[in-house]
Amino acid sequence: MTQSTQIRLVRRPVGEPTDADLEVATEELPALEEGQVSLRTVFLSLDPYMRGRMSDAESYAAPVELGAVMVGATVSEVVESRSDRRRPGDLVLAYTGWQTHAVVDARATRRLDPATAPVSTALGVLGMPGFTAYAGLLEIGRPQPGETVVVAAATGPVGSAVGQIAKVKGARAVGIAGGPEKTRALIEDFGFDAALDHRSPTFVDDLAAATPDGIDVYFENVGGPVAKAVTRRLNTYARMPVCGLVANYNAPSAPEGPDRLPGFMSLVLTRSLTVRGFIQDEFVPTHHDAFVEEMGEWVRTGAVRYREDVVQGLENAPEAFRGLLAGRNFGKLLVQVGELPA
Ligand code: NDP
Repeated sequence: MTQSTQIRLVRRPVGEPTDADLEVATEELPALEEGQVSLRTVFLSLDPYMRGRMSDAESYAAPVELGAVMVGATVSEVVESRSDRRRPGDLVLAYTGWQTHAVVDARATRRLDPATAPVSTALGVLGMPGFTAYAGLLEIGRPQPGETVVVAAATGPVGSAVGQIAKVKGARAVGIAGGPEKTRALIEDFGFDAALDHRSPTFVDDLAAATPDGIDVYFENVGGPVAKAVTRRLNTYARMPVCGLVANYNAPSAPEGPDRLPGFMSLVLTRSLTVRGFIQDEFVPTHHDAFVEEMGEWVRTGAVRYREDVVQGLENAPEAFRGLLAGRNFGKLLVQVGELPA
């Protein structure tokens, strides 16, 4: 009998998730039924949306039940199969969450070809975050040659892809990230035209200097003070795909202070802004095939590069997750739960 080590949600966090909100437990895997496979997790993806699943506030997706395993996408190896679709040894994309092993329906897995790209990229640049960047930027942002595109969380899997796709489309890419090491990587590794540190006391002036012609596309990943500074510099007809607001995810309530909505709505009106939120699933039917083709090509040719931050061991997932919301990750955050097969 195989045991799965699991990290379960046992309490809804207030503010930053603590170790007391999660518990480590083991469970015996059930015997396989027809059509099922048993999986061994190799990589677990940690993503900002998981903070929303820990909460029972109203959202676009149901919360994780208390006592249940934390959700998440994984790259896993098929250990045993009772399905014609998968063979032992296959590497698959699955959604088995924060645990070492699981039994699932084979149809809930997608086979990965390690000869095409490193399998970890199925959780990052060639997976959900890369797709989010691709669809949100091209469908809503619609960058034109010579325009200025600004994105924050810019060394992460979504932001780094946004900036590089903007460059492919002939736009100027301005990236915002936390700290000098990340801003250096934006220029040297990802080819952004300008890079700004949102923690710098001169950030607002730096932003003005880096966007002399204003901003045509603001791909919103963070909210908070960064968004406040950027929105003031939006040009007439600027587009704002609202993808994420990670600065707020741990906030137990709305920030104190004056109501800034009237000022923002006045900007939307007087500058004819397009502000459009989205959850990436919406674009799967219309954009996923083109994404697989185009992004695959851009990654192969080096037009889009990626960076991964791999933490070893499932037991380190909670601390790594806290780091993700505080900017301590540097690239797509993955937990290596088990060895890659030889
Ligand atoms: P990242 O790997 O970029 O991690 C989040 C980053 O956010 C941190 O590394 C940190 O980077 C930055 N950050 C955290 N707090 C702040 C703050 N207060 N101000 C500015 N930056 C901050 O994550 P992803 O690339 O996976 O995700 C980026 C965004 O996209 C998130 O908001 C996420 O929720 C959203 N998303 C939305 C989807 C959708 O369908 N709408 C799908 C996937 C992701 P730094 O150190 O550089 O500040």
